[in-house]
Amino acid sequence: MDMQTAKERALRIREEQAYIRHAMGLMGWDLWGALPPEGRPFRAKASAYLASINHEKITGREALELRDYLKPRLDEDVFENEYERAAIREFVKTVDEQTILPFELQNELREVTQTGQMVWREALKAKDFQMQLPYMQKLFELEKKVAECKKPDQPVFNTLCEGVDEGMDVEQIERLFTELREGLVPLLQRAAERDRDVDESVLHFEASKPQMQEFGRFVVETVGFDFNKGSMGEVLHPMCYGIGPKDVRITTNYSRGAIDATMSLMHEGGHGMYNYSSNEQALKYGLWGGISGSMHESQSRYMENIVGRSREFWSFFYPEAQKRFDALKNVPFETFYRAFTRVKIGVKRLDADELSYSLHPILRFEIEKAYFDGKIQVKDFEEIWNEKHREFFGMVPKDAAEGILQDIHWTSGHIGYFQSYTLGNLIGGQVLEKQLEENPQMYEQIARGEFAPTLEFLRENIWQYGRLYTTGEMVEKVSGKPLSAAPFLKYLQKKFG
Ligand SMILES: [Zn+2]
Repeated sequence: MDMQTAKERALRIREEQAYIRHAMGLMGWDLWGALPPEGRPFRAKASAYLASINHEKITGREALELRDYLKPRLDEDVFENEYERAAIREFVKTVDEQTILPFELQNELREVTQTGQMVWREALKAKDFQMQLPYMQKLFELEKKVAECKKPDQPVFNTLCEGVDEGMDVEQIERLFTELREGLVPLLQRAAERDRDVDESVLHFEASKPQMQEFGRFVVETVGFDFNKGSMGEVLHPMCYGIGPKDVRITTNYSRGAIDATMSLMHEGGHGMYNYSSNEQALKYGLWGGISGSMHESQSRYMENIVGRSREFWSFFYPEAQKRFDALKNVPFETFYRAFTRVKIGVKRLDADELSYSLHPILRFEIEKAYFDGKIQVKDFEEIWNEKHREFFGMVPKDAAEGILQDIHWTSGHIGYFQSYTLGNLIGGQVLEKQLEENPQMYEQIARGEFAPTLEFLRENIWQYGRLYTTGEMVEKVSGKPLSAAPFLKYLQKKFG
């Protein structure tokens, strides 16, 4: 075998895998939207079949031969460019991981995840954690087995977090979270006290669903979301599915009103724009879509919070909102904006204000860590969840629906994932610091409805690279230094202090 042939064959396997994942991605998307309950058993078989083909491709004789040939040459000067090297590196890594993991284990994990998600919906309605418990126990056990297979020599939780945030370890994350909590808690208490009597009822006005949809679409389109590369739908839990290189599906939920739905569209739109903005090289080598975990969350939260919750953003969009929604016609901008940025401590992550938000993922991260350290069991999660809420927020959820069942993550196999939201906030703070250094006019431009320079900075410095870098490398490349909590705290201090 020669290098050229080996590279071409490895890249072809990656391409074929991408086609299969594309079909599976569509099936996953459709699970929430259109699949009727009685269609589920056949769907489960069909997706298991596609997964088995995908698995054969990456664990078959050809893939193993290629891996053995390519692995010792990864650092040699034999690649067209860094994208090709990164793609081949990813190929080798995938073969390594997939051959280590027993396929039955992966299958079991996928089945439990799919059924678990369906049961989660029912459990949420019934507000009953016990319904969900067997699936959750099984999932935590399976994820543990997977991590032990992948890296037998390191702590399980490290492997899980690393799988989401490559280049970050648990100790470093804990250190960052401690730094953040110390700065954030006193700020939060002061702001919550100050805002105690702010009336936020102006935000919860009646509007028809088409009205809300049109406004949400108008906002994200004006900001720069390209509907030639993405579409907008509605599901129970807002999401962004990257189905193909220029095919993202963002969704929202209108049950909490127009303003809330618009903010979740800004969030998912941020994921979407990052997803579809990979450059030609990243597309060619199958590295499109962006770095998962905290890097992706940093971009969605950047659009949602740093851009979308700024005074300038709403000074631009509020007149339009007033035109469209009768309920806002006589509400002065200041009244609206104070209500909109009100700091109010609560038990639901998705309802959290920008200031207290970061504490919710930290709390979940601590529960996961305690489990994998062997200190607690899944059956105790609800009780510990509630205890921690008392410790963090001074209040306890009234039932499982607004407590432990509020998130789909654990049920959908996203264990060792929550830290990425808070890390995403920290990354966002650091990116903002850099962006303001290069373009001090950013917020004045936003106030005029000029979003292109803000987006261009992100596209140029982050989005275009797809998965060329790890999270740690990307943070250093864009900001010139390793991740710290200081810039984000500075941003919060300025906004809420
Ligand atoms: Zn997100």
